[in-house]
Amino acid sequence: MITASVVTLFSLGFISAGLLAVASKVLYVEEDPRIEVVTEALPGANCGGCGYAGCEAYAAAVINDPSVPPNKCCAGGPDVAKRVAELTGKAAGDSEPMVAFRRCMKVEGKVAKKFEYLGVMSCAAAKLVQGGPDACSYACFGLGDCVRACPFDAMWIENNLVHIAPDKCTSCGTCVRTCPNSILELIPRRSRVMVFCSSQDKGKAVKDVCEVGCISCGACIKKCPAQCISMVDDRIVIDHKACLAYGPSCGEVCVEKCPRNILRCLNPEYIAAGPETEPAHYPEESHVADLNA
Ligand code: SF4
Ligand code: SF4
Repeated sequence: MITASVVTLFSLGFISAGLLAVASKVLYVEEDPRIEVVTEALPGANCGGCGYAGCEAYAAAVINDPSVPPNKCCAGGPDVAKRVAELTGKAAGDSEPMVAFRRCMKVEGKVAKKFEYLGVMSCAAAKLVQGGPDACSYACFGLGDCVRACPFDAMWIENNLVHIAPDKCTSCGTCVRTCPNSILELIPRRSRVMVFCSSQDKGKAVKDVCEVGCISCGACIKKCPAQCISMVDDRIVIDHKACLAYGPSCGEVCVEKCPRNILRCLNPEYIAAGPETEPAHYPEESHVADLNA
């Protein structure tokens, strides 16, 4: 009885192995050798910033799909886009250099606390406890989920607030996808102005819990001569492309009019030099160091 079972199992094993061997020959699809060449031209960060599962997946997509452009690797930037364009015969196109930006100005003592959080040191975990310890539901928890997720070591926590090193940030967007409070955003490196708040609450509710939050007064919207600022889902949105195209002649009136001082100039050098200046004069850590006071 045992012998018969063993013989049956071996027979089944041999038949299955034979079928698999035949299938692997019949169904074999030869991989385009250019996929390997493009993969080698990519930085190998596998950060997913291109929107694909990793560098090899993007390489396969850009080779096989005519609609996938060669400039989607944010970690590689324009040089890699140019190389991928050469390898694929596609037009490199323009790529606006981006950087992660923290839409929160939480400074110790300026945002009211609901309770002292003593749980697991994770932003996602803290959010599960009554929405988090801060009275503002849009504040940075400062527990570093984004820092741990960043593949480029471009973030750190200081005084319970995340900070970003623009020189290390490749705009892969991993932090943006990780933050449970959606306070991180990718903006063009040469953005002229930005709001350091992501609250969707109304004026009084913000004033009650935060000394530095946007109160949705709309002064910036009304004053911008280029209509670059709007309120989308109760949150200020800046059309950076239109703002950059309009240039410095507005005198950054939006910044001047913000009564909370949280709509700020990011790039005084660029503004002073005029719109024809080469982009990317992003001042080192300006939006995380100087403006945090
Ligand atoms: S930005 Fe978001 S993920 Fe990063 S520390 Fe703040 S709350 Fe946490
Ligand atoms: S002026 Fe300042 S406080 Fe008023 S809506 Fe604009 S960013 Fe918010």
